[in-house]
Amino acid sequence: EAVVNRIAAGEIIQRPANALKELIENSLDAGATTIRVTVKEGGLKLLQIQDNGSGIRKSDLPILCERFTTSKIKAFEDLSSLGTYGFRGEALASISHVAHLSVTTKTRDETCAWKAAYADGALIPLKPGGDAAPLPCAGNDGTVEDLFYNTPQRLRSLRPANEEYARILSVVTAYSIHNAGVSFVCKKASSSSSSTADVNTSVGASTLDNIGLLYGEAVRRELVEVVAESDELGVKVRAWCSGANYQAKRSTFLFFINHRYVDCTSLKRALEAFYSTLLAKNTHPFVYLSLSISPAKIDVNVHPTKKEVAFEDEDEVVQLVCEKLAEVLEKQGE
Ligand code: ADP
Ligand code: MG
Repeated sequence: EAVVNRIAAGEIIQRPANALKELIENSLDAGATTIRVTVKEGGLKLLQIQDNGSGIRKSDLPILCERFTTSKIKAFEDLSSLGTYGFRGEALASISHVAHLSVTTKTRDETCAWKAAYADGALIPLKPGGDAAPLPCAGNDGTVEDLFYNTPQRLRSLRPANEEYARILSVVTAYSIHNAGVSFVCKKASSSSSSTADVNTSVGASTLDNIGLLYGEAVRRELVEVVAESDELGVKVRAWCSGANYQAKRSTFLFFINHRYVDCTSLKRALEAFYSTLLAKNTHPFVYLSLSISPAKIDVNVHPTKKEVAFEDEDEVVQLVCEKLAEVLEKQGE
């Protein structure tokens, strides 16, 4: 059983950036408006995420890292996100099998925060020789999680710290663009608290503001908005896409399906082909695209925590996006 858990966990949480994605989604689920990520050595030494969300009730802490139980402990249920991937309540459990996890959390109606530590799905003592039970401590409303990878030898595919950090930054960048209403900070841990953050977005910013901040004003200037909807396909699309004058050395694709950051090879290929045809040369586009689709249409055979996602009517959806984009770019050219 432990071995099975570990294999599953290794698949899901291959690297710090994968774990971070799950933790960010939890913070967003908890209604956080600020999310701070602090990283030591590409997350291999420490990955800390701090949010101002709902917090976790003290009574839920003992089962927090048990598989499949945790979806039931939510103080509120976000049914749309629960249904989306047909696969919930496994992230923290999996993380606890590859890393030591400590959680400090406070709900609005608690008078103090509670701290707990986990390994292999269960509470562990906070102090050597102590009880495996949460302890009261000082803390703000919300949740702080500290993740220490304890088994790098199991994570065969891990890269040097700077590469892992780059992946972490991409995840934070993508989520901060998709969640413009939330302030994200991502920085390397260092002794000086004044050290600059690599991502630092503010609550009042728009999606486009954040693209400008994180990819540069030169990129932002070249983007057009694409909005499309089809009742027949049951999809809604909102996107910011580069136009005819955009030039870059490589493509940037930020795809969100039902608010989850994913890879979608078919969509990527189709958009690349679209741009090459449109501009009659090989170009590298910038596309941020948010697709809302009925959860029933997402292919459940593709493991949901793997980044690659497939869905029904892909060709039709891709065509819808490309047609709308062509329309917008034509208008722009007039
Ligand atoms: P899932 O998100 O699929 O339910 P997870 O293992 O990711 O499963 O999280 C388990 C549960 O722990 C969540 O459902 C939620 O109730 C609680 N939780 C996790 N992280 C947070 C957080 N940052 N703030 C509040 N609650 C959280
Ligand atoms: Mg989760």
